[in-house]
Amino acid sequence: MKIIKSKQLYMAARERIPGAVNSPVRAWRAVGGVPLFITRGKGAHIFDVDGNDFIDFVGSWGPLILGHAHPCVLRELQDALLKGTTFGAPTEQELALATKVCRLVPSIEKLRLVNSGTEATMTAIRLARAFTQRSKIVKFDGCYHGHSDGLLVKAGSGIATLGLPDSPGVVAALAAETLVARYNDHDAVQEVFHSYGDDIAAVIVEPVCGNMGVIPPAPGFLSHLRKITRRSRSVLIFDEVITGFRLAPGGAQELYRITPDLTCLGKILGGGLPLAAFGGRGEIMNLLAPEGPVYQAGTLSGNPLAVRAGLATLKWISRRGTYRVLEKKAKYLADGFAQVLAKYRITGTINRVGSMMTLFFGVDRVRNSEEARQCDRERFARFFHGMLQRAIYLPPAPFEALMVSLAHTEADLRKTIEAFDSWSAGETR
Ligand SMILES: *Cc1c(COP(=O)(O)O)cnc(C)c1O
Repeated sequence: MKIIKSKQLYMAARERIPGAVNSPVRAWRAVGGVPLFITRGKGAHIFDVDGNDFIDFVGSWGPLILGHAHPCVLRELQDALLKGTTFGAPTEQELALATKVCRLVPSIEKLRLVNSGTEATMTAIRLARAFTQRSKIVKFDGCYHGHSDGLLVKAGSGIATLGLPDSPGVVAALAAETLVARYNDHDAVQEVFHSYGDDIAAVIVEPVCGNMGVIPPAPGFLSHLRKITRRSRSVLIFDEVITGFRLAPGGAQELYRITPDLTCLGKILGGGLPLAAFGGRGEIMNLLAPEGPVYQAGTLSGNPLAVRAGLATLKWISRRGTYRVLEKKAKYLADGFAQVLAKYRITGTINRVGSMMTLFFGVDRVRNSEEARQCDRERFARFFHGMLQRAIYLPPAPFEALMVSLAHTEADLRKTIEAFDSWSAGETR
């Protein structure tokens, strides 16, 4: 495989764009090497500037559940384009999308469209604080909710601690308003509520974690969160930016039958264009301006192109059989990976919920961020590059989710398993 133009572009881009990328994980720092510059995608495949063809399991980090350049999405976009790209005024399609989302996710009575998941979580928290008139929030170590200041915090040592800034520029006093608990740990949650119960405005959680690699909720964990937030009258926020429309039409809350107060959506919602949303109980959402006093706004919010792409995607996935097919494809791939691990006696574990999964090397099980961090990152980097050499494009970091889409064919998945077998043979020789 020849990679020449990507290297040239990377060197040139670094002069003008920090790290040559517009979002850090794209720079491949966790695996080394130079990121590929992509020219186009079709179905489950992407093509780089040197003309190489890869089977893509990043799917733009989640949105592309239908694959790249899906005809249905393109048709909507072409029609929308000719009518103008933005008006800064309400459109009929925004109502159509809002109605569709409320039908698919019944806990959402009202919602607002924004441009990114970061905006959605940031504003959901502002609303929760206004609603409860409390200031502290609880998040879980390893869950990612975008890069707003209050959510860019890390845990201290211990199962439940005051948050510390996870980036220079985040003010310590603000980080301390965020309490950080260990994921899947009932006692940690109990502990923060015991110490700060009356100050806690909200608990925000990825109901299935996708950002420390895939980690499913332990049995009873989500219902524990529901009970404890209800009892202490704090707001339960499900960050379903990845899981929304991926695990079921109604997301993880449908799969695990838990009703949050607020939900954040993104990624699939925009069908590959910048779109996200937060929504939930009408009583809380009515606090939002102009209905209520909590301010939030956006020049391009509810952008017609993004709304049309999202609506086309949601219509497509609402067809019967979508989630059965996704499950079948993803299970086939995970089973294939597991057989290869066993065949070559490679220690590792595969966490999978529906069409999202992570292969952790060097560990037997991963239930929280501490266990995730114990995985073998060097082997992961070799795995990533070995697969890339075999034309498989995986997330370029060990703590990310591999995404299976409706566009992956059986042949794509078989080739991926064969590539893993071939790499493993070399790795263990
Ligand atoms: C991607 C992601 C976000 C942030 O969304 P952006 O659109 O990248 O700002 C928030 N929460 C979760 C769970 C995500 O996976």
